Amino acid sequence: MTTRYPAIRVTDHELLRQRDEALSLNERPWNLVYGCQPISEVCKSCFAHERLSRFHVNAGRLPQAFARHQPVVVQAALAEPAGWTTPQQVTVAPLADLFQPGVPAAFIAQVIRTIAEYPQHFFHITTRHQQRMRELLGRGQLPDNLSLGIAAEDAASYAERVPYLFDVAAAWRHVVLEPLLGAVDVECVELPTRDILWPLEGIVQQYLGLDAGGRPQWMAKSDPLRSYEPLDWILLGGERGAAPRPPHPEWVRRVRDACRDSQVPFFFRGWGDSVITRKPDLDDTRLIIVSEDGSRRGRGAGSAINHLSVTDGDVYFTRLFQGDEPIQFYLDGQRHREAPDVSLRHAKLRLVDVSPLARELVERIEQGEAPSGPTTQEYIVAHGEPRKKGIAADKRRPRRSHTPSFKAQIAVAALQGEASVADLSQRFDVHRNQITQWRAQLLERAAELFDGLPERPGRARR
Ligand code: SF4
Repeated sequence: MTTRYPAIRVTDHELLRQRDEALSLNERPWNLVYGCQPISEVCKSCFAHERLSRFHVNAGRLPQAFARHQPVVVQAALAEPAGWTTPQQVTVAPLADLFQPGVPAAFIAQVIRTIAEYPQHFFHITTRHQQRMRELLGRGQLPDNLSLGIAAEDAASYAERVPYLFDVAAAWRHVVLEPLLGAVDVECVELPTRDILWPLEGIVQQYLGLDAGGRPQWMAKSDPLRSYEPLDWILLGGERGAAPRPPHPEWVRRVRDACRDSQVPFFFRGWGDSVITRKPDLDDTRLIIVSEDGSRRGRGAGSAINHLSVTDGDVYFTRLFQGDEPIQFYLDGQRHREAPDVSLRHAKLRLVDVSPLARELVERIEQGEAPSGPTTQEYIVAHGEPRKKGIAADKRRPRRSHTPSFKAQIAVAALQGEASVADLSQRFDVHRNQITQWRAQLLERAAELFDGLPERPGRARR
């Protein structure tokens, strides 16, 4: 329902208990929608609901629609970005879900258009309504200054929602695992086709069927069925609210380690409204024991503690009494506040620094006039039986698959010498040796491209 309510100010202080809770360090909320229809069990502890109820509904400042879980769209807020004088990192509709059914499609289209109008700002949209997100955004190109993300709380919701993220043409993709309620294998998702999506590597591995022994087989990851840009960011946090269910540290470590191995930035937003305690007070009514299998026991979890069931892997949590404490944001003695460098993708997509000769080269490669690597199908034809290699046997980071135009752009950039090979390696996440090799190949084969081509009129002969 679109309404013309006056813009309702929710200050950063009200919205975020402190900066650490923010998606990034300089985040600005863009409150376009208030209120949300619950869609999952975790909506019971929805931070946005709790915050709005406390500060606004009780004070009579929000319409009753919100109290009935109907979204209130603030049309006037679309004009806000025009007033931001310095580049901002913006969270879109942090007090609601932009893609919930009650928000009109036309309004969402306006939001996307507004984002595109302000490339100096960078926007984040996170949703639990992944189907509507795909339905409305389709495969149209989205602005470069927008990161699209899904929120998930456990393995099932991650597996269900993440594939939709790769089904829209977002320049940036992120995942928010908050509140994390169970172990999640962020690296690997089985699709309904039984193909495997590797979100941190941005590839789909093709399912080949069963072998003679009845075991499922997949193509090696180095021969992906489809390639995408990998996930750009993973954020993770614990539950807040009246009865928080803290995550087991092992679940958090697994996500952190997977991100580190795949060089995906990882941001830990804390344990929620609980904190690990190494000296548990068994009389503490807020004490919870969390096991790696996801079971939670203790008075804080609504039952008496069974002392005999405590094992080495169990971890004690107690509630934070008031506000936040620094220890809440530490994992194994460290804070994790990595974020992607949003200026890199623009550099990656830009062709303006490529010389005319290089552009011609790139065009010819794209038109299929220059040699390129085999497709998956060509590979199967050339090699007969595909390699018998399952997922478990393929633990190494795969050789990434790059398009010919991507290789050509990097090789040209290396030839032009505007950035060192080391800089390019970091910028494009490609090994230095690989860049050197591409540069050598480009030099070696450049003459072939002009072999037999007629001279363009007006060019001097050499
Ligand atoms: S904002 Fe998110 S967590 Fe809150 S009710 Fe909506 S979908 Fe659920």
